[in-house]
Amino acid sequence: MKKKKDALNPAITRFPTPINFKALDKSNGEKIKTIATHFRAIMETLGLDLTNDSLKDTPQRVAKMYVNEIFSGLDPENFPDINFFPEEFHHEHRANTVLVKVSFTSFCEHHFVPMRGFAYVSYIPGKQLIGLSKIPRIVRYFSHRPQLQERMTAQIADSLSILLETDDIAVSIIAKHYCVVTRGIEDTASNTITNVLRGEFDRNDQIRREFFEGINRELKEI
Ligand SMILES: [Zn+2]
Repeated sequence: MKKKKDALNPAITRFPTPINFKALDKSNGEKIKTIATHFRAIMETLGLDLTNDSLKDTPQRVAKMYVNEIFSGLDPENFPDINFFPEEFHHEHRANTVLVKVSFTSFCEHHFVPMRGFAYVSYIPGKQLIGLSKIPRIVRYFSHRPQLQERMTAQIADSLSILLETDDIAVSIIAKHYCVVTRGIEDTASNTITNVLRGEFDRNDQIRREFFEGINRELKEI
């Protein structure tokens, strides 16, 4: 699985998540135990009574959710396995461009509250083809981290570029940040759009236009 390793190598990804790789040596059980202890302290500091039946298991529940679900994308072991189609398949099924829309929920790394939206991922099939269901899995993997929207956009583009052996990749993310909706200026209508355009999507006006027209068509149907 050399490609899988390459797709995650922070030296190759142009916008890596600042991960302290030493911390990844801990088992999931150890991480859950430590996080639960600290989350209990946060709740107690806020003045909550942890002997209450409804609250007593919350520290453990939050710790498990962090490690096993919403932040599972910090562990490179959880990067999805990718199968490639055989070479003959390409000639019969080659499309000019492929556009996939994926819904996701991630967490803003500044406030640890959700950001939710859609990632539009497009590529021009070249040497490699992967199953369409793999793109949502890759988006899911990078969304399961404390994130910056700009970084997540770049990480999806970089890992796909390595896996598909092409620079012809475009990723556009449209997301609502709940740190903006629920606090600060409490703007419920704001969305943030980030784009990464590489290769032909950057150089070729028509291919870029088709990408954004595809997104606009999709947006009208939401
Ligand atoms: Zn935030």
